[in-house]
Amino acid sequence: MRIDAGACSDVGQLRTGNEDSFLVDDRLALYAVADGMGGHQAGEVASAVALEALRAAVASGQAIDAAIVRANAAVFEKAATDRGLTGMGTTLTAVIVIGESTLLIGHVGDSRAYRIRDGAIEQLTDDHSLVEELVREGRLSPEEAEVHPQRSIITRALGIDPQVEVDLYTLEARTGDRILVCSDGLSNMLRDADMLRIAALESDPRLAADRLVDAANEAGGEDNITVVLVDVLEAPPPTAPDPEALAAASPSRTPVPTPAPEVAVPTPRERRSRLRTLGGALLYVLPVLLIVGMGIGAVDYYAHHTYYVAFKGDHVVVYRGVPGGILGWQPTVETTTDLHKSELSPAAIDQIKRSGKGSLARATQIVANLTLSTTTTTAPTTTLPTTTTTHPRTTTTRKSTAPTGGP
Ligand code: MG
Repeated sequence: MRIDAGACSDVGQLRTGNEDSFLVDDRLALYAVADGMGGHQAGEVASAVALEALRAAVASGQAIDAAIVRANAAVFEKAATDRGLTGMGTTLTAVIVIGESTLLIGHVGDSRAYRIRDGAIEQLTDDHSLVEELVREGRLSPEEAEVHPQRSIITRALGIDPQVEVDLYTLEARTGDRILVCSDGLSNMLRDADMLRIAALESDPRLAADRLVDAANEAGGEDNITVVLVDVLEAPPPTAPDPEALAAASPSRTPVPTPAPEVAVPTPRERRSRLRTLGGALLYVLPVLLIVGMGIGAVDYYAHHTYYVAFKGDHVVVYRGVPGGILGWQPTVETTTDLHKSELSPAAIDQIKRSGKGSLARATQIVANLTLSTTTTTAPTTTLPTTTTTHPRTTTTRKSTAPTGGP
């Protein structure tokens, strides 16, 4: 198969740094986008570490899904060894060419892969995001999901848990196919039809990637924007139907189960209960330990890694820090949500007041629950994901157009 690929990444209009990374490795025929999160440059580290680990694992002969599992471990281990990187994570969507006519896509998170073929665009990957889960459960329409204020909350990412479930897609490539891999900074700014139209303006994948990024910036550029385009210049013509080959290479959107890693994988329930236990233990034990006397350095660390949900005026915000401040370090606003006091029931307002403090993931979960309660009146909270992470938001308007990320 002959391939030509191009990529472009940009900080966008609102962010101060670019936490996206991309990989274009023609020798390995490996192409990927990673969208990091974690704040204070940790997101940049997460996406870069994940792609380097992916590349190294594929270069050493590992299959794409195993290589993504390895990338997860690399980010998780890096986060565990550097307290400044605690809680960082990243999405990862990768395309690799296998043999003469097959493309494999490995996917975790809310970056996306699309296929453009015969003048039509088709989303290949399912987002691992809160709003997509609500859409799949029929509790939100696709139109509502597109503009949902909490659409950047993702339910699966690399680096958050020692294990990760990887979605794997197998595609039969045809001459003329264009695979578009992007971060949500593109897909949240442009509709599928716009991506299709703009991508068609340029046959060179490098120029087409530039055009797409420009269009996302013109549409507001609310997040970092990254696009990788993989063009199939030549693939063998489809042969007479061979049932076996068809089964293996049909453009299936059904995730193929990932082979179990060597370590025992906890069931989702075990993982949830483990997370809950861990979260609960940290929440209560950490303050006690700190107060008992871990010293000013520990208290400082605690203040910088603790989050809580509260009202600022009538808006629900996530604060970083400890209510009332600690040792002179006052809490700062991490995220201002679109939730307004007037939308909330007395019970929800009471829940906010009693919600206490903990990790960013926990605060994000509380916001997600509140959002859900304003979205639907019958939402059972037990179906919510337990490993949510948000892309950090900033409110600055400084613009930098220098593309960053990538090899
Ligand atoms: Mg993003």
